[in-house]
Amino acid sequence: MALGTLDSLRVRAESCTACGLAATRTKVVFGVGGTSSGLLVVGEGPGREEDLRGEPFVGRSGQLLDRLVEEELGLTRASFYIANVVKCRPPGNRDPSPGEVASCSGFLDAQVELVDPRVVVTLGNVATRVLLGTDQGISTLRGQVHSWRGRRLVPTFHPAYALRGGGAVVAMMRADLVRAKQALAKAPS
Ligand code: SF4
Repeated sequence: MALGTLDSLRVRAESCTACGLAATRTKVVFGVGGTSSGLLVVGEGPGREEDLRGEPFVGRSGQLLDRLVEEELGLTRASFYIANVVKCRPPGNRDPSPGEVASCSGFLDAQVELVDPRVVVTLGNVATRVLLGTDQGISTLRGQVHSWRGRRLVPTFHPAYALRGGGAVVAMMRADLVRAKQALAKAPS
C-alpha cells in the first residue's frame, strides 16, 4: 500500500470495501490523535459507539483509557495516536476474523510507518496477538517490553476488560503504562 499521508490514507479507508465488514459498518473508524509523543495505541476494532461516531475508544472504556494514559504518561490524544487492527465494526462486537484482519492490515501497517512511534501499546488479546504474531494470551504477554519492527511494544489489557475486572486489572494496566513511559524515555527520538 502506498503510504501518502494519514489524511489521504483515511480517505482511502473511508471508501474501502475489501472485507465483509464494509456491509455492516456505519462509519469507518480510521484512527485519531497526534504523533508528537512517539506513542501509538492499538485496539482490536470499533464497538457500537465508535461505529456510530467514527472515532476509536469514545465510550466508557475509552474514557478509562484516556484517564490512565494521562495519569501515567501525562499524554492526551492531542499527542498520541490511537487506532484499531480493523477499521470497521465486527457485528455484535465479535473478534475480527483472520481474513478481516489480513484484509485490513495494510492500513495499520501504513499508519505505523506514518505515525512512526517509538513505543506501541497493544490493548487486549486480539491486538497483541496480531501484532506479535503469536497465539499466547495477554496475561502471558503483558508485564514485559517486546521488540517489534525496531520499536518497543508494551501489551496491556483492553480497557473494557479492566472495567469488568475492577481495581486489580486497572492496577496492572497502570503498571504496563509505566513500562510504556519508561520505554519512551529510553528510546531515541
Ligand atoms: Fe476495509 Fe478494513 Fe473496513 Fe474491511 S475492516 S472494509 S479491510 S477498512
